[in-house]
Amino acid sequence: MSSREPAQVIESVRAHFAERYGREPEGVWSAPGRVNLIGEHTDYNGGLCLPIALPHRTYAAVATRDDGVLRVCSLQSEAPAEVALDDVSPERPGGWASYVAGVLWALRREGHDVPGLDVVIDSVVPVGAGLSSSAALECSVGAAVSDLAGLGLLDGADARARLAQACIRAENEIAGAPTGGLDQSAALLCDEATALLLDCRSWQTEPVPFDLASAGYALLVTDTRAHHELVDGQYAARRDACEEAARILGVDTLREVPASGLDAALDRLPTDEMRRRVRHVVTEIDRVERAVAALRAGDLDEVGRLFDASHASMRDDYEISCDELDLATDTARRLGALGARMTGGGFGGSCIAIVRTDAVDDITQAVDAAFAERGFTAPSSFAVTAGSSAHRDA
Ligand code: ADP
Ligand code: MG
Repeated sequence: MSSREPAQVIESVRAHFAERYGREPEGVWSAPGRVNLIGEHTDYNGGLCLPIALPHRTYAAVATRDDGVLRVCSLQSEAPAEVALDDVSPERPGGWASYVAGVLWALRREGHDVPGLDVVIDSVVPVGAGLSSSAALECSVGAAVSDLAGLGLLDGADARARLAQACIRAENEIAGAPTGGLDQSAALLCDEATALLLDCRSWQTEPVPFDLASAGYALLVTDTRAHHELVDGQYAARRDACEEAARILGVDTLREVPASGLDAALDRLPTDEMRRRVRHVVTEIDRVERAVAALRAGDLDEVGRLFDASHASMRDDYEISCDELDLATDTARRLGALGARMTGGGFGGSCIAIVRTDAVDDITQAVDAAFAERGFTAPSSFAVTAGSSAHRDA
């Protein structure tokens, strides 16, 4: 976990607001990063995924303005931005601030009356590490707007799901990242000590108990610090392949292909590459269902086996892993992890492992040593528990 405690960050983001804008913020709101336990690249296929919220959060100190202008700066960026809400587009304000402006744009598109804002952002979610700093940013601002404009979009699961949809639109249409909805749903709908079973076809959610500590285990996250851009063509290429396969199979999404019908579906696809992409998606959705059953039964060994199978599927069939992710997961397994897998979009980012609580330090050191030996950038590992969703802090 970060060395900065939440109370410190809240105080600091308030102080920065006062210094920058010469007045007090009307409040501070925050939203968490996430790790997806299992169910990767299933969201845009109408499938299932199973995220938890991280204790790591992004904080937004915010006050309204009466001139329809958004001014925003971040302690993680040297580029502050200013834009009139009427002018927001994929090009304006551009850069990181498009994640913030996009949320206001999307809420206005849905007919909400949204005021101009002054915003200061501070975050302890590692940026670009596959832990969803982008959705944490969108949802912290979304939470603030909802409260300040009286939109009520934090009041209950249905309202939160609507706010998630606005944040998804912001990321897709203004920030230009074709992500599928897992991240924003996690940031707005997760809860402490539980994972969120998210059905990306119906957008229904169900809580699933997730408390490894009482069984003597921890969830170890390793940020490999390998950052291969998500917004580049790879993510979109995977998404396109799935949509093309669904067209050939005559279904809306690959969710309609049951695990029992996989072989018959594969026989109808034209290329080996497309068959492997579809096999990942269909088996991964099945693994989510099995993982939920195993968690409900308290069978962590089975959850670990499913983590391993999921990683192999992403490495071999979906081809979204990389040397750093393979090395971190292999090392954790070699030192006794029940299971390990990459999490998030892939091409770098983070992995997760279920490890005995008393093995956290040994595995962290072994992963560090393995990375040093291969000449990779030093990774960062930390044990996490399931945190809470977006809310007002102060
Ligand atoms: P991830 O969501 O996995 O961290 P993304 O590539 O989806 O990775 O999003 C990272 C981008 O989100 C950054 O490049 C930046 O534009 C924006 N971002 C996230 N958090 C912050 C922050 N605290 N300050 C400024 N920009 C941020
Ligand atoms: Mg992101």
